[in-house]
Amino acid sequence: MAALNDNLAYRLMLTNTTVEKLADMVIWLNESGRYVFVNPAATKLLGYSAEELSQMHVWEIDPLFDEDRWQKHWQDVVEQKSFRLETVNVSKSGDEIPIEVTVNYVQFEGRAFNCSIVRDISERKRAEAELRGLTEKIYRLSVTDALTNLSNRRHFDLTLQNELDRHTRSGKPLSLILLDIDAFKQFNDTYGHVQGDEALQSVALSLSQTVSRPTETLARYGGEEFAIILPETTLDLATEWAERSRLKIESLAIAHSSSPTAPHVTASLGVVTYEDCRRISPIDALMAVDAALYEAKRLGRNRVIGHRSENAENPSKGTREALGS
Ligand code: GH3
Ligand code: MG
Ligand code: MG
Repeated sequence: MAALNDNLAYRLMLTNTTVEKLADMVIWLNESGRYVFVNPAATKLLGYSAEELSQMHVWEIDPLFDEDRWQKHWQDVVEQKSFRLETVNVSKSGDEIPIEVTVNYVQFEGRAFNCSIVRDISERKRAEAELRGLTEKIYRLSVTDALTNLSNRRHFDLTLQNELDRHTRSGKPLSLILLDIDAFKQFNDTYGHVQGDEALQSVALSLSQTVSRPTETLARYGGEEFAIILPETTLDLATEWAERSRLKIESLAIAHSSSPTAPHVTASLGVVTYEDCRRISPIDALMAVDAALYEAKRLGRNRVIGHRSENAENPSKGTREALGS
């Protein structure tokens, strides 16, 4: 066997057969970007015959190259000798094939070549795109409330922290609204849970129509509670926003015969505005807006109560547990 291995013809046969049978493309280019050798995998994938390719330049197949870029690339090949890159080849039939190229600089009898091992990575790219899509979908699900399609509490809490940080830096006013549907327990008791769910969906939809800026965050905070973050918004504007929402919910005219407040579904809203967000935590902000909401409930429901940050820093001790219905 040793004798056979030393035999040049035998070794050439091994090398040739390997290159012929290889699933990866083997492509030799010369300094001017011309194809000087391709293996059968290359002709099969690219759809050009070896003769056709021998008349072509690499930039006729790789749309990321032109003659100028090839010159720069060749300098990289000469300097770095071997490296890996991702690009695209366009087959004869016009298909774009994503490829991974392992470039190798080779000198032979005074001439320089780029011997590339080229792998079709369509499958990997497809799988990566699918994974990205799936990750995106799972992320969206993780921050969305299933019943109303609004942001959920997790997303709201994260956004509130981010907005407090951002407003601490900018010094601009940040407003927060907490909305709670009035006598919703009675609504369920009177009309059933399914109709209760539909009422929540209608309220969510009408609130989402009040959102005008992409930076505003509307979330379902809990059962029949919705929370809104209004960046760079003064108390006056936030109170207007809240009042518009209150009226919108009234105008839905969802019958609520057992409500002590009105013959239709209504909501109470607390508003709090921080002119200065320094040292305010999300819990501080939520306690403050909860206190404003508590006051709206105490004063008869179906109304908006706004607090400035001075009040917010000393929120009333009222809690929602103390409210009852
Ligand atoms: P108040 O005016 O003080 O807010 O009274 P309330 O009855 O609205 O408040 P309470 O907290 O006593 O009851 C809230 C009700 O909201 C109880 C619960 O059954 C209902 N609820 C919470 N989540 C859902 C939901 O996803 N679907 C339905 N249909 N009802 C829900
Ligand atoms: Mg509630
Ligand atoms: Mg309620």
